[in-house]
Amino acid sequence: MGKIVRALSEDGSVLCSAIDSTDMVREMARLHETSPVVTAALGRMTTAVSIMGAMLKYEGDTLTLRINGGGPCGTLMAVSDYRGNVKCCAGDPKAEVPLTPDGSLDVPAVVGREGSLTVVKDMGLKEPYCGQIPLVSGNIAEDITAYYSISEQLPTVCALGIIFNDDATVKAAGGYLVQVMPPVSENAINVLEKNIRNMDSITAMLQNNMEPEKIAVMALEGLGGEILDSWEAQYYCDCSRERTEQILISMGREEIEKLAAEQEETEVCCHFCNKKYRFTAAEMLNLLKE
Ligand SMILES: [Zn+2]
Repeated sequence: MGKIVRALSEDGSVLCSAIDSTDMVREMARLHETSPVVTAALGRMTTAVSIMGAMLKYEGDTLTLRINGGGPCGTLMAVSDYRGNVKCCAGDPKAEVPLTPDGSLDVPAVVGREGSLTVVKDMGLKEPYCGQIPLVSGNIAEDITAYYSISEQLPTVCALGIIFNDDATVKAAGGYLVQVMPPVSENAINVLEKNIRNMDSITAMLQNNMEPEKIAVMALEGLGGEILDSWEAQYYCDCSRERTEQILISMGREEIEKLAAEQEETEVCCHFCNKKYRFTAAEMLNLLKE
């Protein structure tokens, strides 16, 4: 289980959401059999989308984060529900790129730097809210920070980290997102900037097994920050046979008849969890009767 912790400043203007996403990222890597550099990239997406989604208000709301940077891993997509439960996928989960000169995983190189970051919030309204910015660096945390300041005009600090064991399995994953709500207080911004400067990097904090509670409270030091709430979240795919049927039906009569004529069995694989749904030719044709 992942753990999300939120802390709020005394005046209610600064919110810090911190997460231990270790289990989520491990499950993501297991399901998608990601290369280490894609584990790092998609792991950062998973971590970020969980705390972004956790800011949604109502059950049924979802937040989708999509990064299309033109790099070897293709489009990265991560979806969160309002409790921060996530699912994600990558165009090529096994993509590899050379390490950086200092020997670390090169996330911007695998993601690519030429493209866009898109956030879609589906809140049950007629039209989902959609915001898009050009990628800033492809390192994901900087891109999300830029998204909030450009698209939502919310001063934001975002830090995301994944650390690995010697055998390239995930040792720990986590991150935090701090946002200053309007009306923006100059004092809060100054204190926050000082706190962030004084804090260790997220990877160093993960190496030291720092709990999300501690990270959230540290980020709000001097602002009278207190823990607001905390709960568990996980990697969770909500696909089902019924939903898969709906997707098939939406392809239209012609396509279904074609598939039913061409093959004994049609297999549909869920991009988010790799679960396979099989439909015989007769079952395919039955879908048209509904
Ligand atoms: Zn699924």
